[in-house]
Amino acid sequence: MHEMSLIAGLFEILEEKAREHKARSVTAVRLRVGTLSGAVPELLETAFDMYKKGTLAEKAALVTIAVPVKVRCRACGSEFEVDDYVFHCQFCGAADLEILSGTDLLVESIELETEDETPA
Ligand SMILES: [Zn+2]
Repeated sequence: MHEMSLIAGLFEILEEKAREHKARSVTAVRLRVGTLSGAVPELLETAFDMYKKGTLAEKAALVTIAVPVKVRCRACGSEFEVDDYVFHCQFCGAADLEILSGTDLLVESIELETEDETPA
């Protein structure tokens, strides 16, 4: 499953951030998922739930936010979002479009629970 390796990469980021902030656990993760990223949000959430067991993100919930594909027309310079896979300019009809966003995964925010003051 493609999503499993994406989640493995996400957990490396989570563990690094948790160490950096001396956090005890990760409580929530918000992930922006481009509609052209090739990743299915539901499968990412399932993979996250499978992967988190026994990690510091065990209690965390993954929230995915769909990011639409944004393109720029090389012919007329217009920028717009496409919500289907018909790639031509809405303004001049040209098919020469540059994809600006919507092809990747991006961690938007991570919520951490930090150590309390009481000594262990
Ligand atoms: Zn155009």
